[in-house]
Amino acid sequence: MHIKKHLSFDALIKDYADRVLSIIDHRREASNDYTIFDVMMSALACMYMQSPSLLAFQSQLEKRTQRNNLISMFNVHKTPKASAMKDCIDEVKPEALAPVFKTYLSKLQRNHMLKDYQFINNKYLVALDGTEYFSSKKISCDCCLTQQHKNGSCTYSHQALQAAIVSPNKKQVIPMMPEDISKKDGTKKQDCEINAAKRLIPKIRKAHPRMPMVWLADSLYATTPFIELIQSKTDDNFIFRVKEGDHKFLYDTIDGLDAKKHENTINNGKETLYYHWYENISLNASSLIKVNVLRVYSTKADRYGKKTSTIVGVWATDLIIDESSVVEIARAARARWMVENECFNILKNHGYSIDHSYGHGQKNLSFNFYTLIMLAFTLHQIHELTDKLFQQARTFYRTKRELWHGLQFLFNMMLFDSWLQMIGYAVKVRDPEFEGLRPT
Ligand SMILES: [Zn+2]
Repeated sequence: MHIKKHLSFDALIKDYADRVLSIIDHRREASNDYTIFDVMMSALACMYMQSPSLLAFQSQLEKRTQRNNLISMFNVHKTPKASAMKDCIDEVKPEALAPVFKTYLSKLQRNHMLKDYQFINNKYLVALDGTEYFSSKKISCDCCLTQQHKNGSCTYSHQALQAAIVSPNKKQVIPMMPEDISKKDGTKKQDCEINAAKRLIPKIRKAHPRMPMVWLADSLYATTPFIELIQSKTDDNFIFRVKEGDHKFLYDTIDGLDAKKHENTINNGKETLYYHWYENISLNASSLIKVNVLRVYSTKADRYGKKTSTIVGVWATDLIIDESSVVEIARAARARWMVENECFNILKNHGYSIDHSYGHGQKNLSFNFYTLIMLAFTLHQIHELTDKLFQQARTFYRTKRELWHGLQFLFNMMLFDSWLQMIGYAVKVRDPEFEGLRPT
């Protein structure tokens, strides 16, 4: 069995380790029991194994055997205590880990693993979506967003804007660097998703100058200044949802026009999709921006043959819509939901505990933990896409969560020399015929 050497666990962990080594330690020396390197490697291991109690298990292993799996798989020298880990990560600048996302995406591209993600004209679909990953009435820090209530109470929260490469043909989403939505150092000003997007888009473009992108986002983004930002790079495009409440002028305009039409059936003929599109429509009464508008309906028959019709969505785009592209454009537009379904939902409800904070801290802890969880999720997505051994291990478990419970148990209870040995063991116990691996 072959594995891709540059996308192997060891290679990906080395990329992360190289980045961590460049983080400058601003802590006072006297208080440093553990290096930033050991802390950041251990923190990624906790998120990767989805195990908040991982450090305690590894310390027990080390007491018994003078070794543990943090040492063998994550190159940790001295296993930190959880409290020291939190104090240290609180001090790390929020943008410190952003380059790792760039490295992983570039490697996937160089190794031809993104071919199935290419859209019309070899562009990539990048979905943007915000998420609130922390909310509390009691716990807070200086960076928390605040919402005052009439009864005098206050809700504290943290949000992030997440960009991810998606494809309607692939289940895996590939996260890009997240942008913190928070009160910045020393300011009282609240931040918001749109401002975060104005900061994030130039960063992503700078990181991937030769990746033409089609940006997918909600109605909130379908405004003149934002579309101008997207169009400031000539080979980028957008598909933004438009809602009647936000875009009354546009809705009124298309209601008075004849549409170009196309239809196709899906789900073995059980569902028909109707595509209506309108060209060169003003975004709103005062805007010079013209967009093409696509409205999609679905008609399904129930088992008694009774048909119901629903609206699938309405989108504004600067892509040319015609008979040959309309189905692809609608599928791309709908793929935006994958960030919510395949990314945030999984992070919240399938083991990663993204909203059960590992701790809050006073500065950057909350966002750094979010970023680390997103990196761990990215590593898992890369394994799913590229790692034959991991894919084989996955087939032995009913759900991904069961697989990770199995691996977590092995990681916390047994000693392994490497990740390959651990996954190989997980496969071997289920398939005694398994012969092992040859790196390519
Ligand atoms: Zn906070």
